[in-house]
Amino acid sequence: MSSMQEPSEDREPETGKSYDAVVIGAGFGGMYMLHCLRQQGFSARVYEAGGGVGGTWYWNRYPGARCDVESMQYSYSFSEELDQEWHWTEKYSPQPEILNYANHVADRFDLRRDIHFHTRVNSAVFDETIKRWRIETDRGDAVTAQFCITAVGCLSAANTPDFDGIEDFNGPIYHTGEWPHDGVDFTGLRVGVIGTGSSGIQSIPIIAEQAKSLTVFQRTPNYAVPAWNEAMNPDYERTVKADYPAMRANARARPTGIFFPFNLESALEATQEEREAQYEAFWQRGGLPFLGAFGDLLFEKDANETAAEFARRKIRDVVDDPEVADLLCPDNVFGCKRLCVDTGYYQVYNQPHVKLIDVSKDPIEHLTRNGVVTGGIEYEVDVVVLATGFAAMTGSFDKMNIVGRNDISLKKKWEAGPRTYLGLSTVGFPNFFMITGPGSPSVLANMIQSIEQHADWMIDCMAHMRDVGVETIEPQLGDEDAWIEHVNEVAAISLRSTCSSWYVGANISGRPRVFMPYIGGFPIYVNKCNKVMDNGYEGFVFDRHTEGNAPPKIRNTDRWHVELDMDVLSPAAVAAMRIPII
Ligand code: FAD
Ligand code: NAP
Repeated sequence: MSSMQEPSEDREPETGKSYDAVVIGAGFGGMYMLHCLRQQGFSARVYEAGGGVGGTWYWNRYPGARCDVESMQYSYSFSEELDQEWHWTEKYSPQPEILNYANHVADRFDLRRDIHFHTRVNSAVFDETIKRWRIETDRGDAVTAQFCITAVGCLSAANTPDFDGIEDFNGPIYHTGEWPHDGVDFTGLRVGVIGTGSSGIQSIPIIAEQAKSLTVFQRTPNYAVPAWNEAMNPDYERTVKADYPAMRANARARPTGIFFPFNLESALEATQEEREAQYEAFWQRGGLPFLGAFGDLLFEKDANETAAEFARRKIRDVVDDPEVADLLCPDNVFGCKRLCVDTGYYQVYNQPHVKLIDVSKDPIEHLTRNGVVTGGIEYEVDVVVLATGFAAMTGSFDKMNIVGRNDISLKKKWEAGPRTYLGLSTVGFPNFFMITGPGSPSVLANMIQSIEQHADWMIDCMAHMRDVGVETIEPQLGDEDAWIEHVNEVAAISLRSTCSSWYVGANISGRPRVFMPYIGGFPIYVNKCNKVMDNGYEGFVFDRHTEGNAPPKIRNTDRWHVELDMDVLSPAAVAAMRIPII
């Protein structure tokens, strides 16, 4: 089968089968996990709701979708051959190319034969009598597995606001995260886009090129730094490929898992001229690394305000109409919500057919047959694009019935916010592993690196359990509580915890406000995971006792180790490092 062809899922339900592991999701997380399981001789079945591999890059096919971590780094690092043979055509590759890459990896490592596509896992229930997970899907599959591994993604449950009248709207409504596979032609149409996060900011300029008119409904303006995207520089590609492992090691040593220059000095200690020059230089470099201009930007409000003001000036320089520019200027902490990386975003508002509507004070009231109503005014459109984001971090967990010991569901356990040990596991759910679960760096790091590190840790652990002959692993309550306390403690020292972002669940009404990812930095986190392993799985129990507690013999995880000369888990140390976490 050609790599881009979607496999048909005309198959009988799979019942009564038993696997070492069931993996849920075939994005970059599920794909690498499957590869690791195979390498260690474990039997595995992967279920994927979509019709192909790639996860995020399978679903988010909206115009302008591309990565915001440079392509030479936003890729797997586990295979030097893969690194060498793949060629990225742009500095930040577009979605189709990233999806091609995912398909190439699936072909190269022959992954598809163990994946069932078009298959959504509905429930995973731990059966205490057989010490195995019972997993059921929407296709009638009912299998058991020793391990249940979620690779369901942090940004995979689309948030569709419950606007009154949404069913009455006469035209199509597209969510950026569930984009039609054959594309959308906006030519000659009046388009309304709701949402101005990264997805809105990437798609709006491209939609504007086609549409007859474009109305953007903005609730909160966002900061965006130009990508300065360009064709891949062959010299740069050659240099990286000459020693790719060194580039990967450098990246791993960075708080973000991404290699880029950053400066630890304080913005407040620099003179106005020095600050200006520094900001301009980092602006010209572009993208997320702008946050590395000074070390205190995410820790000191006054320092942050200097960057915020610089960014606002950039917006005013570009946007001709001062009233529109004002509306586009955020007044919140710079980089508090995920910083956006744009190509021609602000310029779009100088075009006469593009209108910006502020819905911060007058929320969208409802949709009519013909358009969107806010402030008592109906804005007529033919098509609505929802760039309204995701129920982040836990949204895809919430859609499943996951039940652990004593009939406790994960939804119930996480009612007041997710609780995990290292973002990898959670008390009461034996042999349940989460790739980039809440409480791990995940979305605050280069995610593919986060994914690989998690899968490596899990496979080492599973191989260890096989070696020592234990059946179950689960964390202990005291250690889980201590980890969550630490996650909260480090979040509190970052300005990131202060605004209403999806990091804290504030984009979805009714969700508890909890800072979900671990913001202490990738190397600090990795070393903690390795230390837990070295100390014989400290914080975990095997078969409800500690006799299996010894370091593992197989050590895929070692490739992540970084020398750190600090008391690694102290929040003060984290603050002192002045981490420019993305
Ligand atoms: P996903 O790619 O989300 O895959 C999860 C898969 O699980 C999905 O295919 C889903 O269908 C499947 N699934 C979920 N629930 C079930 C179920 N119950 N049954 C069966 N299947 C299920 N990160 C970066 O580091 N850099 C970037 O530049 C970047 N850009 C991004 C751009 C966009 C538009 C978005 C939305 C996210 C971006 N991210 C980026 C984050 C991105 O999600 C990760 O980088 C990465 O692709 C996540 O891989 P994953 O396998 O963990 O999850
Ligand atoms: P998002 O950042 O959550 O943005 C959603 C937007 O929709 C926000 O502007 C939000 O306003 C608005 N919105 C939501 N509900 C609304 C309502 N009822 N009425 C009006 N406006 C509403 O989602 P996203 O843009 O999809 O991005 C999510 C994350 O995915 C990013 O932060 C990033 O991590 C990743 N991503 C990355 C890239 C990339 O550049 N590589 C691209 C896309 C996505 P409020 O801010 O007021 O809530």
